[in-house]
Amino acid sequence: MLEEYRKIAGSNAIDEIQLIADRLKGKTVLHVNSTAVGGGVAEILNRMIPMMTELGLKPKWELIKGGDDFYAVTKKFHNALHGHEQDLTPKDYQVYKDTLKMNMEGMSLDYDMLFIHDPQPAALIEKRNSSKNKWIWRCHIDISHPAEEVWDFLKQYVLKHDAMIISAPNFSQKIPIPQMLVPPSIDPLSDKNKELSDEEVKKIMARLQIPTDKPLITQVSRFDRLKDPVGVLEAFKKIQHYVTARLLLVGGPADDDPEGAAVLAEVRQMADGNPDIIILCLPPTSNIEINAIQRASSVILQKSLKEGFGLTVSEALWKGKPVIAGAVGGIPLQITHKYSGILVRSIDGTAYWMKRLVHEPEYARRLGENGREHVRENFLLTRHLRDYLLICLYLESGKETFIRL
Ligand code: UDP
Repeated sequence: MLEEYRKIAGSNAIDEIQLIADRLKGKTVLHVNSTAVGGGVAEILNRMIPMMTELGLKPKWELIKGGDDFYAVTKKFHNALHGHEQDLTPKDYQVYKDTLKMNMEGMSLDYDMLFIHDPQPAALIEKRNSSKNKWIWRCHIDISHPAEEVWDFLKQYVLKHDAMIISAPNFSQKIPIPQMLVPPSIDPLSDKNKELSDEEVKKIMARLQIPTDKPLITQVSRFDRLKDPVGVLEAFKKIQHYVTARLLLVGGPADDDPEGAAVLAEVRQMADGNPDIIILCLPPTSNIEINAIQRASSVILQKSLKEGFGLTVSEALWKGKPVIAGAVGGIPLQITHKYSGILVRSIDGTAYWMKRLVHEPEYARRLGENGREHVRENFLLTRHLRDYLLICLYLESGKETFIRL
């Protein structure tokens, strides 16, 4: 499987991974997060785990289990870490602690390396019983300005880890454990990102009943306020009379997320009766469909107001598409303004660039091309895997402050 990446990522990248992995053969590695499908973390783990196995490590992936009350609390944590004060009651904190306690009882944590993804499983560290096992808290979200109360609560767990990994430089914190910058990645060979012929793209678009007679301006995102689908709609409405194009908003069904359902309802209402606005809910396994939609689009948006990294940006750039995205979280790592995409800070800015990119396809093509090369260098799964392996090696090596290969 790894060999297939040689052509795409370059031979050096693969040789380097093998060299590092040789030093970690037989090591057991546990990844814990809260969902097997949907969202960026699951997307990455789905591919990372088989690659680690192929390299001779022994990885395992476990999920935190919890009821609706637990997910309501962790959703509040999520929003609070993004800087939005939440109304958290003592009962909420208790639900979190009780759920984690239950999970600890059913889960073996006896691994050489443990990657604990995001706040949901953070308290598993309470079961740590040896300093030999290395625990890493892998934070995928924007914690540049967290609401203090929730961050203080989580910090008690985070500080018991051996290191924290963040996705962008400005998420770093004043804490006494090492912090490492590891942006996430996309897999160029997954159904979501692999090459598709024009024929295949056409077929999928026809099956999804998405008309392609006008240029498509697309945002693929959960229906979440922080992804700002409402702002996208407002921007599109501003230019609609001057541009021949359709707006396509693609998201999940949002059944299990009351906030998501409210955002979806609002967006549907705003789009009502507007024939050039398409809102599409796809099941979370629709990888090849998302791939085809991104490829069929003329311009891709990711107008987030807050963002961890924003995998959809790299996904679109990898397909050579011009991307207009909010200048937040990890997005500026992926886009250099007017070179490998467009960074925006307002609805008016978004509207201006939407119109310009539809009207200047040659400029748009150049942005996409530069973006693709930037992703090849920095955001493919192989670079991500190398970083994780290097961190394992670093923590394993104990006192050493650098690693000799
Ligand atoms: N995604 C999807 N279907 C959807 C919405 C999103 O498959 O309806 C995928 C998207 O292609 C990307 C991931 O989910 O791979 C979202 O990751 P991102 O970092 O952009 O945002 P997150 O949802 O993790 O905040």
